[in-house]
Amino acid sequence: SEIVDVTTLRSWLIRFAGDVEEHAAQLTELDSAIGDADHGSNLTRGLKAMVSVLADGTTPPSIGPMLKQSGMALVSSVGGASGPLYGTFFLRMATSAGECDALGPDSLAAAFRAGLEGVLARGQAVAGDKTMLDALIPAVETLEAALNEGRPFGEALKASADAAEAGRDATTPMLARKGRASYLGERSVGHQDPGATSTALLFRAAANTMID
Ligand code: ADP
Ligand code: MG
Ligand code: MG
Repeated sequence: SEIVDVTTLRSWLIRFAGDVEEHAAQLTELDSAIGDADHGSNLTRGLKAMVSVLADGTTPPSIGPMLKQSGMALVSSVGGASGPLYGTFFLRMATSAGECDALGPDSLAAAFRAGLEGVLARGQAVAGDKTMLDALIPAVETLEAALNEGRPFGEALKASADAAEAGRDATTPMLARKGRASYLGERSVGHQDPGATSTALLFRAAANTMID
């Protein structure tokens, strides 16, 4: 359907948590090359905390508050850069969505856009700095463009997930300019960014849970 309700959004977050757990070793391996080898464990810990609040029966029945609770769980359980950045993404999505039962495609895209703006503001990185933004920016822009062209929601979401994966792949030749990887300078070139890799999982999980 064209409507994403609270249950679907919760399924998306739980699917993302499962996919990250499944890829935790790869995420940590990527972070061991250009960081401190904790991206897989950081996100797994944060998303476990998020899933436990989503599953404890106290989840608000409204989208904004549910996303806020999810973002808060991440921020409060992850010490690394990725906790506040992903947390901010979900908190800004929450504010954009507000108190409602369901989001149409344009409202979902607007919530993703708000999340992206939050990550930009929080991390002060730009496109090409070899961060999660290099997956996030194309994912959001592609969704917006596809919906503006009048493409069906399912097709638009798949295009968004494809764009996130292409953006992830494009980080390999980049020189890191933000975060721990930037300490390596030229030695950061030739390695895929861990955060862009987890962000590609986030958008693939959306395509896999929001389309029926
Ligand atoms: P830490 O670097 O604190 O150990 P993680 O390993 O969990 O945290 O996350 C690292 C990822 O965070 C990087 O691969 C990158 O994608 C992302 N990142 C780091 N700094 C920034 C920033 N300023 N803006 C956006 N993303 C960032
Ligand atoms: Mg790290
Ligand atoms: Mg760390």
